[in-house]
Amino acid sequence: MASFLITFAAMTAIIAARYLLTSGLIYGLVLRRPDKPVPPAGAVRHEILLSLASSAVYALPAAFVVEQWKAGHTLIYTQLSAWPLWWVPVSALLYLAIQDAHYYWVHRLMHHRSLFRWFHAGHHRSHTPTAWASFAFDLTEAALVAWVLPVLTFVIPIHVGVVLFLLIAMTATATLNHCGVEILPQSFVRGPVGGWLITATHHGVHHKRMQTNFGLHFRLWDRLMGTDVMPDPVRSKSAPRSQTPRPRAPPG
Ligand SMILES: [Zn+2]
Ligand SMILES: [Zn+2]
Repeated sequence: MASFLITFAAMTAIIAARYLLTSGLIYGLVLRRPDKPVPPAGAVRHEILLSLASSAVYALPAAFVVEQWKAGHTLIYTQLSAWPLWWVPVSALLYLAIQDAHYYWVHRLMHHRSLFRWFHAGHHRSHTPTAWASFAFDLTEAALVAWVLPVLTFVIPIHVGVVLFLLIAMTATATLNHCGVEILPQSFVRGPVGGWLITATHHGVHHKRMQTNFGLHFRLWDRLMGTDVMPDPVRSKSAPRSQTPRPRAPPG
């Protein structure tokens, strides 16, 4: 029990530190941009407090997995040769696809009138999210979501390096998707690969029009279920201006 509590405290600290570092970095970078989001007073404080509280909820199943892994009870492996090399990308994709499908449907459910205020209102206090909103979930929402990846480690074999890669990639994309501006080039966001991924452009729509864009990583479920909406591309600043002549001052 003492060992579990120490692991739980350590996981809470690691998850919170990872959040503070990543969100702080992206928030600082976005602050330099003229199109940076301007959230209402108190919004950032709310996003940070909720995110730090969520860190403890996510740490609980994470600590359980670490303890089980140490005891040899999970399917997390360390020897690359234990499974064929092709399993490395396949396992990563499987984890992402299962988490994405789970989140899409739980997310839609949380938007139901009778559930929204109990499970998901905390995240949607940010109409203009900042990078600090990347982990801002009600504790009830965190409890519905935090166990998915930990449970998969008992069902689908995964290399420990893939686990780390997924955690880093998920942190980066969650932060970028909430930072309030699109850092990725529009040619990628609307391209043949990026067009299937959730980006800040896509998720920003969800924070303004809550009945669309429920996905987490991929746009597959949104497209299948007809909830996918992308805003029109922003006209480039170098695009020619309107040629409408300015009205002349009346003579005299
Ligand atoms: Zn969001
Ligand atoms: Zn939502």
